[in-house]
Amino acid sequence: MRTVEEHQRVVAALITARSPVAVPIADALGLVLAQDVVAPLSLPGFDNSAMDGYAVMVDDVASATPENPVRLPVAEDIPAGRTDLLTLKPGTAHRIMTGAMLPAGATAVVPVEATNAAVDTVEIRSAARDAQHIRRAGEDVTAGTAVLRGGQVVAPAALGLAAALGLAELTVIPRQRVLVMSTGTELVAPGTPLAPGQIYESNAVMLAAALRDAGADVVASPMTGDDVASFRAALAEHTGDADLIITTGGVSAGAYEVVKDALAGGVEFVKVAMQPGMPQGCGVVDGVPIVTLPGNPVSALVSFEVFLRAPLRAAMGLPNPARPRRSAVLTEDLTSPRGKRQFRRGVLDAAAGTVTSYGPPASHHLRWLASANCLLEIAEDVDALPAGSTVQVWDLT
Ligand code: AMP
Ligand code: MG
Repeated sequence: MRTVEEHQRVVAALITARSPVAVPIADALGLVLAQDVVAPLSLPGFDNSAMDGYAVMVDDVASATPENPVRLPVAEDIPAGRTDLLTLKPGTAHRIMTGAMLPAGATAVVPVEATNAAVDTVEIRSAARDAQHIRRAGEDVTAGTAVLRGGQVVAPAALGLAAALGLAELTVIPRQRVLVMSTGTELVAPGTPLAPGQIYESNAVMLAAALRDAGADVVASPMTGDDVASFRAALAEHTGDADLIITTGGVSAGAYEVVKDALAGGVEFVKVAMQPGMPQGCGVVDGVPIVTLPGNPVSALVSFEVFLRAPLRAAMGLPNPARPRRSAVLTEDLTSPRGKRQFRRGVLDAAAGTVTSYGPPASHHLRWLASANCLLEIAEDVDALPAGSTVQVWDLT
């Protein structure tokens, strides 16, 4: 039997980063920048007003007070977006709005609140400091500066900055494109009636969501019966678009193990010393890496967590690709099979630093996993853990 770490290494070696691509900025959210972003222009791009008010020369309003305002003819009206180049003449004012380009010669903006707000001759009721309420070109960003760093995860403000700099695209490490295939003749899509002996298919939607949550794209998530021909046909239909194929089911020791039967040759089927998730497989099919997970829903999702989530995130350049691990104090006695790494579903009380197992260990108890917030990891050489023991948990929140 393979150890968890050995299988983790084999799977991780199959998953490689895609080449960087330029994508429209709106599509870059959550992706990692492949290179530094150098500002092609300065921000602000021109001297502009920080207030609605009047552009003036400081010397012209030096004596202004509420009792003795200075009166200046308003020579121009400058709303934001006016594009012609204006010059302020001594002894005049220009009415100006926030964000509008400052006229040449103006040395301050007097806020409208310190005036009578007139449009012909304005009363200025206070003196002005040099450069007051003026935003200078380049005071935020100087053209040529690296404003975003390669390796940075694109967050909303980074998109805002890129747009402000006039960039329509960002060069990012693309998402991994993953094909999810579930197998089983007993499976029926939710929303359709069940015949006796049939069950609803639940791995595809779950793994597709886990993939998206990890930052990956899901190419398709077809479901096939346990016959080699239809499995191969579904595989052939979607493989070309995928960087990775994940299958569930059909890899254990019974008959009708469709994944084993269809992929014998390119894929190595192994037993991993863990519970749940012992039957595993991986390899390459038509040039595309494939990881074959067991069919039980808990096994499938735990296997995804243990073998796939971190390498997929790492291949997308995401920081801290692995789930955070922490120690917690067990609130109860637990047993575990000797010789296997056990991953129990757990409820972690982060504030108290305690963890309680949640539901039975068997791999079809999906209900419990659905409300757990951690995996409780019990080492191979441990068969009993008393309450009060310190255990390792994977924080799934
Ligand atoms: P298998 O590994 O194909 O033998 O499947 C193991 C168990 O998991 C069986 O009880 C299957 O019915 C169940 N199972 C397999 N695939 C799925 C699936 N996609 N959705 C729900 N249950 C499944
Ligand atoms: Mg099956």
